[in-house]
Amino acid sequence: MNLDLKHPMAFVPTMGALHPGHQSLIKIAKTYAPNILVSIFVNPLQFENPIDLEKYPRDLAGDIEKAEGAGATFVWAPTVEEIYPDQPQIISAGELGNKFEGVHRFGHFDGVLTVVKRLFDLTAPEFAIFGEKDFQQLFLIKRMVRDLNIPIEIITAPIIRERDGLAMSSRNVRLSEKGRNAALVISRALSGAATQQNLSAARKALHETLASEKSFALDYAEIIDADTFELATESTMKPRALVAGWVEDVRLIDNMAMKPGAGI
Ligand code: AMP
Repeated sequence: MNLDLKHPMAFVPTMGALHPGHQSLIKIAKTYAPNILVSIFVNPLQFENPIDLEKYPRDLAGDIEKAEGAGATFVWAPTVEEIYPDQPQIISAGELGNKFEGVHRFGHFDGVLTVVKRLFDLTAPEFAIFGEKDFQQLFLIKRMVRDLNIPIEIITAPIIRERDGLAMSSRNVRLSEKGRNAALVISRALSGAATQQNLSAARKALHETLASEKSFALDYAEIIDADTFELATESTMKPRALVAGWVEDVRLIDNMAMKPGAGI
């Protein structure tokens, strides 16, 4: 495959159905390099649920417009055959790959790391931008880049939210109006927890708020140490709350920094 890319280049990998969250990554990319590559590839390897893969929203024409509007210089939408011409060499996410998101999405992070490595091999960018929205994914990608000595600088982008707090996601379009309202419980629970004075109060507030919305089915709500991804303790300096669950048949995730040293 000859992509004829220009360097230095900052790379923004996505699965398409672009929204302002993705566009914010492109804008950040612009501050690192003059050439911005946006990929649009719905990676079958990271979908443990075939219905989720099938229902994943796709809109290539709209995506090209949004990517270019935000400053992309090259939009690349490869086929599955282009990315995986042969049986791919699976990259294991290790033990952390089976925790939190990994409990509920078996093999998901092996699929994510495998595609990201493959995309990196094909494009060799100087920079790659990933959102904090997928906090565990970001942690695992940074670790892979470090462990495999990949010469790419990983840049982190903050979560972009709707005015009412809902974290932007390609999956939000599948929510009904009622479901979208119910989904607001997630950001409400996270911001409520973030104002608590200590970790146990934050955990309690998080769970109580989430439980108050009957249309929300919790997968997990945990506060972890952002540096290690172990469960946070009272002395953790960078506690981060992670939430995942379902509204209607849509799986939603979100996360937020808790007060630094909140437990001390
Ligand atoms: P996806 O298309 O869902 O694979 O996401 C592509 C990239 O956009 C990932 O690095 C995500 O973390 C990031 N992203 C998705 N939603 C948001 C958001 N609301 N704010 C910031 N980054 C996001």
